[in-house]
Amino acid sequence: MSPQHDWFETEQYSGGITRIWEPHVHSFFRANLYHVAGRDADLVIDFGMGLRSLRQFLGVKHGRPVIAVATHVHVDHVGSFHEFDCRLGHSAEASAFSTMLDTSTLADFFRKQPDGVSQAPDTKWTPDRYRIMPAPLSDVLEEGAQIDLGDRRYRVLHLPGHSSGSIGLLDEMNGVLFSGDAIYDGTLVDDLPGCDKSEYRKTMERICDLDVSIAFGGHGAPMSRKRMQTVAANYLAKSTT
Ligand SMILES: [Zn+2]
Ligand SMILES: [Zn+2]
Repeated sequence: MSPQHDWFETEQYSGGITRIWEPHVHSFFRANLYHVAGRDADLVIDFGMGLRSLRQFLGVKHGRPVIAVATHVHVDHVGSFHEFDCRLGHSAEASAFSTMLDTSTLADFFRKQPDGVSQAPDTKWTPDRYRIMPAPLSDVLEEGAQIDLGDRRYRVLHLPGHSSGSIGLLDEMNGVLFSGDAIYDGTLVDDLPGCDKSEYRKTMERICDLDVSIAFGGHGAPMSRKRMQTVAANYLAKSTT
């Protein structure tokens, strides 16, 4: 077993979609990463903490195109982003990806977490040495941009609120949404530095109207459309701007 295979866990879904997560990472930082095996290219959405190599875990074949898309710049989503060559993210966070400063990634929250991992990722592990490698975007994404894998296509949705450059990827043909931290089945976070509650409310209203059959969020299990609408409606009912 490679060192990567006791670090990541996976679950397969139809359409060549794999959900990947890091079980030894504290639940607050344990995000979902996704791999989609397309006809002409692989798509990787989000990159975990970067404590072990995601690229090695995925076993990307030499010469196979891989499109890496970060839903936003927070620490739990960008750790292994630098391992990929074709890196896409929203223009609002382009400078943040190129520096990966704590002020954008909020990595200091993880460094200060006393039980950030339940198992050390390597023998030299100490939380105070945790750093995220800069990962400048090779191209910026805006609302409406298309990502084409040959047999499926994703439209970029700008979903600000949780962060200024939060995006989702919508496969309109198959009714599949990758939503990052804009919405997931859990308590939504709108009080971190960089959050904007009034933008978040507009994003929730937009999400309520999306015609999807399944939504893969940045944390937790996938949601049906009904569940996604319930999470969004609960947010709208409880939030104040
Ligand atoms: Zn986040
Ligand atoms: Zn997250």
